[in-house]
Amino acid sequence: MVDLKGQYEEIKETVNSSVLEVIDSTAFINGPKVHEFQQNLEKYLGVKHVIPCANGTDALQIAMMGLGLNQGDEVITADFTFAATVEVIALLGLTPVLVDVEPDTFNIDVNAIKKAITPNTKAIVPVHLFGQCANMDAIMDIAREHNLYVIEDNAQAIGANYTHKDGSKAKAGTIGHVASTSFFPSKNLGCYGDGGAIFTNDDDLAHTIRGIVNHGMYRRYYHDVVGVNSRLDSIQAAVLNTKLPKLDDYNTRRKEAANKYDDAFKEANNIIVPFRNGTDDSHVFHQYTLKIKNGKRDALVEHLNSQGIPCGVYYPVPLHSQKAYQDSRYNEADFTVTNQLIKEVISLPMHTELDDEQIAFITSTVINFVNG
Ligand SMILES: *Cc1c(COP(=O)(O)O)cnc(C)c1O
Repeated sequence: MVDLKGQYEEIKETVNSSVLEVIDSTAFINGPKVHEFQQNLEKYLGVKHVIPCANGTDALQIAMMGLGLNQGDEVITADFTFAATVEVIALLGLTPVLVDVEPDTFNIDVNAIKKAITPNTKAIVPVHLFGQCANMDAIMDIAREHNLYVIEDNAQAIGANYTHKDGSKAKAGTIGHVASTSFFPSKNLGCYGDGGAIFTNDDDLAHTIRGIVNHGMYRRYYHDVVGVNSRLDSIQAAVLNTKLPKLDDYNTRRKEAANKYDDAFKEANNIIVPFRNGTDDSHVFHQYTLKIKNGKRDALVEHLNSQGIPCGVYYPVPLHSQKAYQDSRYNEADFTVTNQLIKEVISLPMHTELDDEQIAFITSTVINFVNG
């Protein structure tokens, strides 16, 4: 699905010397590379504060802790996402409220959010799934109207641009009150282990969060709030400093591969290519996800495996049906889109090193099988 080796070969010298510099310096934790990365990422995103942490799941949890949400507060999020999003809501003793997504973008459905709001609702967590922003203008409008926090789960869309109604643009993860991201190796900006970060434009929230990631300390050995230990280590920061200047190029290469996939599938029946919001910079294709409309998705997965073509089904089970997250208040009729998507979606190989020959082989194999 990804080719991390090919990408590494291209930056090997720089990345190796930067990592060795960290080892030489022995500044493994909170070293200058971490601070440098924080500033580089703030500049790239155009956001006031980046707080690096240990992984994307921690980033989400810490963002919610920073907002001071309390036990029993309801947090609305998408039914169709990676479990990390709902897991941290539940872990904090908050009440996850899962809602349906849009059939074209796969992102949280604004009308479903409106329907799910109660007096206990405190926050909305839109997930920018597969590399494209949720409908942030509408979500921010709802949040203003009902006095809710918006926490963007931006693990899959770093570098994507969102175009507001008035035509102005913002980077994914800089629109809500706070956002989280992940630097897991296969993400669009991946390090060589675990890593994550929180972004916000709110000075007070940033201050609170900087304490939370460090055991709730604002002064050494004085613990004002209950915190966690969540750090980005200097070696990972060294890798990220090397890769961040290439992020736009990496995302362009993904988009070029997506365009070639789209072209190849243009005339094919029963295969729906990923929907794009309109502007050319809106989608960074963390995944390239097709919908197979003639019931052959599962058979296609098997066929691709037999042909040595990697593929993935993200996600095969809606969160509301997962044992850990079932809730008697859920009604199947409110999840018609997710219940359908889990039967139709398939993600094809997507990375910065895909060449024309690979794309031609993958697309012809898919088309011949689906319509054969
Ligand atoms: C990857 C991912 C996360 C979690 O990131 P980790 O760094 O693996 O903890 C959270 N949300 C979404 C949508 C993700 O894709």
